[in-house]
Amino acid sequence: METVKRTKIVDVLRSKDFGTTVLVKGWVRTRRGSKQISFIALNDGSTIHNVQIVVNTEAFDEETLKPITTGACISVTGILTESQGKGQDAEIQATDIFVYGTADPATYPLQKKGHSLEFLRENAHLRPRTNTFGAVFRIRHHMAIAIHQFFHERGFFYFHTPIITGSDCEGAGQMFEVTTMNLYQLKKDDLGVIDYSNDFFGKQTSLTVSGQLEGELAALALGAIYTFGPTFRAENSNTPRHLAEFWMIEPEVAFNEIDDNMQLAEDFIKHCVRWALDNCKDDIEFLNNMFDKELIERLQSVLKENFIRLTYTEGVHILEEAVAKGHTFEFPVFWGADLAAEHERYLVEEHFKCPVILTDYPKEIKSFYMKQNNDGKTVRAMDVLFPKIGEIIGGSQREEDYDKLARRADEMGVPTKDIWWYLDTRRFGTAPHSGFGLGFERLLLFVTGMANIRDVIPFPRTPHNAEF
Ligand code: ATP
Ligand code: MN
Repeated sequence: METVKRTKIVDVLRSKDFGTTVLVKGWVRTRRGSKQISFIALNDGSTIHNVQIVVNTEAFDEETLKPITTGACISVTGILTESQGKGQDAEIQATDIFVYGTADPATYPLQKKGHSLEFLRENAHLRPRTNTFGAVFRIRHHMAIAIHQFFHERGFFYFHTPIITGSDCEGAGQMFEVTTMNLYQLKKDDLGVIDYSNDFFGKQTSLTVSGQLEGELAALALGAIYTFGPTFRAENSNTPRHLAEFWMIEPEVAFNEIDDNMQLAEDFIKHCVRWALDNCKDDIEFLNNMFDKELIERLQSVLKENFIRLTYTEGVHILEEAVAKGHTFEFPVFWGADLAAEHERYLVEEHFKCPVILTDYPKEIKSFYMKQNNDGKTVRAMDVLFPKIGEIIGGSQREEDYDKLARRADEMGVPTKDIWWYLDTRRFGTAPHSGFGLGFERLLLFVTGMANIRDVIPFPRTPHNAEF
């Protein structure tokens, strides 16, 4: 027989070349049928849809067909045929089957239908083979492409910031240390302070919590940049919205002020959502039907709305009024308080019913590098708040004045000696500039409608969880 090239199932299902011979390879989702005829649903990851393989069992020997059970990997040659059943156009009448790998039904974990998401988290090595995670991870890929596309088209440069860093950008703890020292024999001085001079970098280093400070260096040279890379936070928060290892996108733009920054954030998210609707239709429809009947509607509505813009102070007023009218929150609301997800979601889901950008937060609850307003109380911060998610983006206009920046760093206990290189940008050719950070997995929560951030990253890292 002449050799046929393998076709991906996504292409087979679109093909109208009925009567031709095709070769497909993939994993068996189900097999059912009678003594004479067997139907195999085969999936190769190229699409959420399976192709139906029709097997005339009398034409094959028992040895070939027996191991074709859920999870087995097979190669099928056959005639592309117009399907009699509804739902799909093409199926394959098998003429030749080869089994690459069996999956013993007695031990293969993905047997019965409708596994819980928790069960699949415990089997994260196999969950990409389910419909749900196939859909999620295809969407994740498309969102990464959408992000690069958005910035590339607008003349931004993709800039790589370090993963191992000697500075703590937020001025707080919660970083993972990086060391090659023997933890059993740590060298300490008389005061019990660890001596890092013999460590790999000769100083204390950690995994980055943000590429922003280095991104700012690049923005003040290349004009407009973005980072897109892994980010690490050792905060011990077991929430459905926090990971210890996540991916962040951080654009930074010279000469942009806070209004430009807000517009960029809005355009950026809308581009990503539109991209998902245009390029991930089948996967999103599947997730819509499986988990979240309002998903598609929510995605479309975000595209239609202009995001509401208001100050933190106005936002707190609205929340205080809600409390006065009898609404109860778990955490207290008052000017100066950091907003909890419940407050953010009240503004977005109950009050405005559309995405909200809050600006001008109290300086005490924001980072040292944010531009100080003339009121002496607030900084030019902006958080983008989304339905079902809460904060999806955090950003600001940056303080470009050297003295103000250095003073604020001091006040907030940020060791300026460690970030002399950052402060140098304000000594040499400083300029107004702005940027923000979008959590990639928070965007994916929104676009997929999944409820738990552990289900939108292949191998989630959370407290006490790093098995896979
Ligand atoms: P939150 O208040 O939700 O903990 P944050 O204010 O600490 O977030 P930023 O420092 O502003 O977060 O980071 C920018 C963005 O990165 C956030 O808007 C969010 O989308 C994302 N992000 C922050 N922390 C995490 C995390 N632990 N896991 C996943 N995404 C995160
Ligand atoms: Mn934030």
